[in-house]
Amino acid sequence: MEYYVTPLQNLIEEFEKLPGIGRKTAQRLAYHVLNMPKERSEKLASSILEAKRKICYCEICQNLSEDKICAICSSPKRDRSVICVTESPKDVMQMERTHEFSGLYHVLHGAISPMDNIGPDDIKIKELMARISSGEVKEVIMATNPNLEGETTAMYISKLLKPFGIKVTRIAHGVPVGSELEYTDEVTLSKALKGRIEL
Ligand SMILES: [Zn+2]
Repeated sequence: MEYYVTPLQNLIEEFEKLPGIGRKTAQRLAYHVLNMPKERSEKLASSILEAKRKICYCEICQNLSEDKICAICSSPKRDRSVICVTESPKDVMQMERTHEFSGLYHVLHGAISPMDNIGPDDIKIKELMARISSGEVKEVIMATNPNLEGETTAMYISKLLKPFGIKVTRIAHGVPVGSELEYTDEVTLSKALKGRIEL
């Protein structure tokens, strides 16, 4: 039987709730924290609290922000006629790293997934539609993931946008390097095929 003093037991349990952390890793992390100098453990705890307290969703694009309106939405340098729609804030970071996109973003915070009971009302589609009605937007780029949920979401939103006469585009997805065609679902594969370029 495992024996731990209660605070250590609690710490292990909290680590174990994190994604990708099993019992063994949780124990290792908990002991690591215990052996940290006091200042470092305080910094770790306060960073968690500060991130939770200070970060909110931008009122316009729903991306993570320290202010009501994020730095991208408030920048005069960004092209307001193009919105790139992503599933998560991590995707925005990824797009920004490419330095290829100068428009605005819209973060859905998920994708439509009937299997997981996630419908259009559970993600930030209403907020996107509210932005469209301003008339400023000329193009919406669907940059949801190249999987079933991402494709379903892209199709759903493009149908909603049709009456507005806005250009809706989908980023070209290839079969990821290192993956196998056999294990790529048909929607992804067909997309990759249609978006093929001449070599
Ligand atoms: Zn924003």
